[in-house]
Amino acid sequence: MSDTAYILYLISSVLFILALKGLSSPESARRGNVYGMAGMGLAVVTTLCMPAITNYALILFGIMVGGIIGAMIARKIQMTAMPQLVAAFHSLVGVSAVLIAAAALWSPESYGIGNSGSLHVGRLIEMSLGAVIGAITFSGSVIAFAKLQGIMSGKPIRFGDQNKLNAAVAAAIVVLMIIFCGSESKFIFTVMTLLSFAIGLLLIIPIGGADMPVVVSMLNSYSGWAASGIGFTLGNPLLIITGALVGSSGAILSYIMCKAMNRSIFNVIFGGFGAAAVDSGPVAAASDKPIKSGSAEDAAFLLKNSGSVIIIPGYGMAVAQAQHAVRELQVELEKEGIKVRFAIHPVAGRMPGHMNVLLAEANVPYDSVTELEEINNDFATTDVAFVIGANDVTNPAAKNNPQSPIYGMPVLEVGNAKTVIFIKRGMAAGYAGIENELFYQENTMMLFGDAKKVTEDLIKALKH
Ligand code: NAP
Repeated sequence: MSDTAYILYLISSVLFILALKGLSSPESARRGNVYGMAGMGLAVVTTLCMPAITNYALILFGIMVGGIIGAMIARKIQMTAMPQLVAAFHSLVGVSAVLIAAAALWSPESYGIGNSGSLHVGRLIEMSLGAVIGAITFSGSVIAFAKLQGIMSGKPIRFGDQNKLNAAVAAAIVVLMIIFCGSESKFIFTVMTLLSFAIGLLLIIPIGGADMPVVVSMLNSYSGWAASGIGFTLGNPLLIITGALVGSSGAILSYIMCKAMNRSIFNVIFGGFGAAAVDSGPVAAASDKPIKSGSAEDAAFLLKNSGSVIIIPGYGMAVAQAQHAVRELQVELEKEGIKVRFAIHPVAGRMPGHMNVLLAEANVPYDSVTELEEINNDFATTDVAFVIGANDVTNPAAKNNPQSPIYGMPVLEVGNAKTVIFIKRGMAAGYAGIENELFYQENTMMLFGDAKKVTEDLIKALKH
């Protein structure tokens, strides 16, 4: 590789770091995306200009096929289906790592890394790491995709001696890696890779419900390390750096989300290893308990007579695409002199930052958007908690019911407000599949209907 290529790769790496920095806040996220795109454009052009690249027709064909599929997916995908799309993309990174490691083992001469049968041990370590992490990423992401897409049940799947089985498979993989590095045996490589596919699956099946976001960000991290592994095999420094950036930023995000969910990072990395076996909790069913439901006019009356309102958006707001109506509601209430803030739970919606993205799209000012820790104590002194399409993130079972699958997760304590208004279409459960006691609370009013339609009706009622 020429010095110019090294310098251009270095510039790309800096642009990727600036992209990550930009993406850390909604205000600078757009700029971050521009840096990321510029970095990737520069990286691709630099790679294409290398003397080793000769078959442009094949590369252009690959770019065209991938580009067309990518553009079609980008146009069609619903924001609410992002997590499963991300999981699907991670699986592709994983399988690429496995295929490249296998290709390098079967034909090292084509990669210029030595001759078959006499590869340097360093190369074998890189290959085995790339294949193992890639295989775990692939099968783990396929399971995460199936769970998020509803192809398989989102509930944790547990069986007796699961942890012992996981530990035995993990130990077998480590032993096989050592044997492979000493023998360069293709048979051992194949068995080790198959076992890694198996452990990826075993690690993700016991995780479910509200813990899925952490799993997706953990798989994001694994996919980064797998890409980094490929970088070593291909001798490409930019891929090593980019993989490490994805790997470490994914790991940091997982850690932050684990903290927010009050989960142990080790339980997530080791697939629920050592986690207390929890009952899947009561699945929501139409309960006989009385509820109070009201109309848009009733809600408008309550809101108009309040001094402070906290809006709690959730997945239902995303489904209904109600963010613009919610912003209009905020403007109307503020015209009446009412203090309006938004409370965002770290796992509200279906991807990290989901609610922030939607509210930013609707031009909700950033200074009225607050995080859980910032605002949780303020519910007690708030007149109306206005919950729009959120459910699990407000469920007090996380605090009160040790048998609940969301037990231990901090939730927005909306029940402490003077009045709670819940907008949802019916009494259905949220993602975790558990009943929410708040619906039956004395100070709760249910407002049934599609989030966008109900909010628009409410604005009309407020105006008149
Ligand atoms: P939620 O618990 O899934 O509840 C959403 C509620 O919205 C449902 O109860 C549903 O009730 C209602 N809804 C759906 N469509 C609606 C519409 N068109 N209009 C009005 N209401 C509608 O959502 P959440 O409180 O935001 O919690 C997120 C959950 O997803 C957590 O369990 C979290 O762990 C999980 N999760 C999060 C991520 C992430 O990264 N953020 C990723 C994967 C999973 P009705 O059907 O009765 O209307």
